[in-house]
Parts: sequence; structure tokens; C-alpha cells
Amino acid sequence: MQNLVRMIDQDGILCVIAADTTETVREMQRLHGTKKVVSAALGRLLTAASLMGSMLKGEKDTLTLKISADGPASPLTAVSDSSGNVRGYAGRIDVEMPLNAYGKLDVSGAVGKNGTLTVMKDLGLREPYIGQVPLASGEIAEDITAYYAASEQTPSVCALGVLVDPDTQGILHAGGFLIQLLPTADTSDIEKIERGLETLRPVTTMLFEGMTPEEICRTALPEFTLEVLDTAEVGYRCTCSRARTEAALLAAGKQALTEMAQDEVTTATCNFCNRQYTFSKAEIEALLAQC
Ligand SMILES: [Zn+2]
Repeated sequence: MQNLVRMIDQDGILCVIAADTTETVREMQRLHGTKKVVSAALGRLLTAASLMGSMLKGEKDTLTLKISADGPASPLTAVSDSSGNVRGYAGRIDVEMPLNAYGKLDVSGAVGKNGTLTVMKDLGLREPYIGQVPLASGEIAEDITAYYAASEQTPSVCALGVLVDPDTQGILHAGGFLIQLLPTADTSDIEKIERGLETLRPVTTMLFEGMTPEEICRTALPEFTLEVLDTAEVGYRCTCSRARTEAALLAAGKQALTEMAQDEVTTATCNFCNRQYTFSKAEIEALLAQC
């Protein structure tokens, strides 16, 4: 199912990307067993990574979002490929918090309010692009907007939502959108956007009503005539393999491998999908010989 859409308005004033990441966040929750507030926090970060990653131009480009802050679930990491397929993990999965003053899952309480959002884009160049901003609120969508304003000088609007079943911990709906103004936009365009957003319902409410990402874009921007640039099917995808795990072990260095070689079996667990790779003493020694 096509669950991500990129659209542009016919006058070239803005572009908007929206995604239904319900299945992505469900798969994350299944793999990691996150508690409700961590599902919401990591689900929002994965959704943001998917929206931002889908804007990468090179096929092998990747985008990493990392939040390091003073909340119990931090740090949180999400990585997207250039199609918007994502993977991620949180520092702790079992954080439980009382609902916030609005009766919602307290994402900023779990993430922390004091910290940084780091955006790393690996564009196949010698050095990755790295931008870092202080967290605006720890609610994630506002932090993404702050990043675009400070690091890329791009006025943006970001909305992210994850609706979790309070009884079963299951993910009911997840999604988001990201509006970016192009340099041709002026003050009256910003006012048009703001008018549309004033009455906009939360993303998860629109998904609950059965709206598609394209319908969400059109509803968020009622005063603009939007055209579809492209659509994609995005999901949770881990890229780990035994070969990549071996490369990571080699990168750990001689001393670390020497210590591992003391044990009969070494187990390496993928942070993103919890898959386990086991290496015998002889296999570790063979890696050590390559150092
Ligand atoms: Zn993995």
C-alpha cells in the first residue's frame, strides 16, 4: 500500500510530505516491546525520519535523527533510507509516565526537555552532513521544525502523531506531515498556511477517519492547489546482516576482540531489530587475525 506521498503546490510555494506510519510503528513496537509513551516517542521520531528521509536524493543516502536529552527514554535514534524506510531504537523501552496536563502520553517527559536533536545525512561524501539544535520541547515535531529553521533556514511545519491503545499497548494509528516553504513564499502564503492549520484535527484523528496521506495534505493546506510528485510504500526495515556484524566487530578493535576471544561464544545483538548473531571462539580468533 502506498503510504507516503510528496506533493507540491502548483505555484511552487511549498512542498508537503505526509505518511501513514501505522504499520511501521506497529513493527517497531513488536520488535522492541516498547511501553506506551516510548512507542509514542520513538514512533514520532521514526515518522519524522521517514518524512525527511524520503527527501534524500541519492539512492544510497541515509538520514539519522538522534535525540540526546535528560528524560528516562533517551537517547532515541531513528535512521531512514532514501525511500523513507526506517529503523530505530530507544535508550529504554520500559519507561512509564503519568499522562500530561492535556491527558496525553507525556512524550517530552519520557524524552526530556533539555538536550539536543542531531540530524546526520550521509550523502556518500567523505564527511556526513551534521546539524544539531537544542530541543525546543522534546515533543519531537516542534524539535524538527526548530532544526529546519536554525540549521537549514527552511520555514517548516511538522505534525506527528502516534495513538496507542491504553489497554493493549497496541498502535492504533501513526503518521505525520511536513510542510516546507520554498524560497518563493511570502508573508501572505504563511498566513494562508496558518489559517488552514488553525482548525486542523490531529493527524491520528484524520487517520482514524480513514483519510489517506494525500487527503491529509489537502486538508492541511485548503487554500493551495496541490499536485502529487510521487508516492511510496514505506515500512520498518532493518539492514543488519552477519557480514555487517563482522565488520562492526572488526571496527571494535584488537583489544575488544581479544577480550571476546576469552569466551566460548560471543553474541552480538542488533540494536534496531534485536536479532542475535553468535560467533564461536574460533570465529572471533579469525577476525582477530585480520586486525
Ligand atoms: Zn537488525
